[in-house]
Amino acid sequence: MAEIIIKAGKERSLMRRHPWIFAGSVERVAGRTKPGDTVDVINPRGELIGRAAFSPASQIRARMWTFDTEQSIDHAFFKRKAAESVARRARHPALSAQDGVRLIHGESDGLPGVIADRYGKVVVLQLTSAGAEKWRDAIVAGLVQATGCDAVYERSDSDVRGREGLEPRVGVLHGELPADLSIDENGIRMLVDVVGGHKTGFYLDQRDNRLLTRQLASARSVLNCFCYTGGFSLQALAGGATSVLSIDSSAPALTTAQRNVELNPQLDATRAQWWEADVFEALRTLRTEGRKFDLIVLDPPKFAPSASHADRAARAYKDINLHGFRLLNPGGILMTYSCSGGIGQELFQSIVAGAAVDAGVDARIIHRLAAAPDHPIGLAVPEGEYLKGLACQVG
Ligand code: SAH
Repeated sequence: MAEIIIKAGKERSLMRRHPWIFAGSVERVAGRTKPGDTVDVINPRGELIGRAAFSPASQIRARMWTFDTEQSIDHAFFKRKAAESVARRARHPALSAQDGVRLIHGESDGLPGVIADRYGKVVVLQLTSAGAEKWRDAIVAGLVQATGCDAVYERSDSDVRGREGLEPRVGVLHGELPADLSIDENGIRMLVDVVGGHKTGFYLDQRDNRLLTRQLASARSVLNCFCYTGGFSLQALAGGATSVLSIDSSAPALTTAQRNVELNPQLDATRAQWWEADVFEALRTLRTEGRKFDLIVLDPPKFAPSASHADRAARAYKDINLHGFRLLNPGGILMTYSCSGGIGQELFQSIVAGAAVDAGVDARIIHRLAAAPDHPIGLAVPEGEYLKGLACQVG
């Protein structure tokens, strides 16, 4: 087997079980390797410390599969890892009964570059590293066996594949997709477009936060910004919101959102309004019109994919949060999120604090919010923490 030898002084993060080996940490590669091949990882003292997947095109030159030097990386390894990941969700009381669950969350489940989401009887797989790409068949076999699913669909069309030198790849890998796929999320039926929707079709990470919105929405007027297919909006309606105005710039997402309302006849559709608009402009229009709300959700797309975008992203977060605070009635609640890896929890809180000051409101944090437990954060991989949120109540 080929070897990657780590430069002197560069093995510290590996000692802490961080799975990434950056190009600058590699002393040399010994032996012939193709993208995705498994390599032995050798520390600067010449000792074997584990096995990794080689990614010659990427700045992350290798990703650890294991720190167990006895472990061989083969078909059985991936089948077992997939099964263990599925079993962990099955044992969690908040996840075991869910229709829509993230089954594999990349590095945090010990499978760098592998995302798998289950929507009912369909599993959607996204592979984003050369190593994951190589073991596609084994991962699919493991998922099929562990879940008994009817179909596996591949959505490997994320931008990050380009950095690994991988082409986009989508299509059915196992079984057949049903014509209309929907899930039950805490009593609300939601359509999931695994072929054309965002990510793998749905934002599973916000499940628990949508449920909190439902609890807080009773007898409140709600504004849901960046609503996508209406996840927060429908939960707010279910929670007894007096009105829900939802904004998104995507017409197809809004069409699906309205179909979702029809799928849930227990909800009062007359309380829901859908507005196709740019949120940055819409918030200003609402202010000009003198509109106010009791609960506002801001769940924007990733403004800062990495730390290098943090400055511009910070201005965008500041803008929407400032305008959000201004549109709140006294006692109102702002539920505000950032899913940018490049904006940490502390920075996000300081941006929101600055927005409150500029809006001239006193606000307090009543909930700190994060992704649901099927999106765990490996303690060794803190950069896995991407989604953070605050529920802030104004005086
Ligand atoms: N809250 C949603 C997920 C939001 S994803 C849920 O729980 O499912 C972010 C959404 O923001 C996407 O639907 C995208 O279409 C929308 N979007 C991106 N930029 C926008 C903008 N400037 N104005 C309005 N919507 C925007």
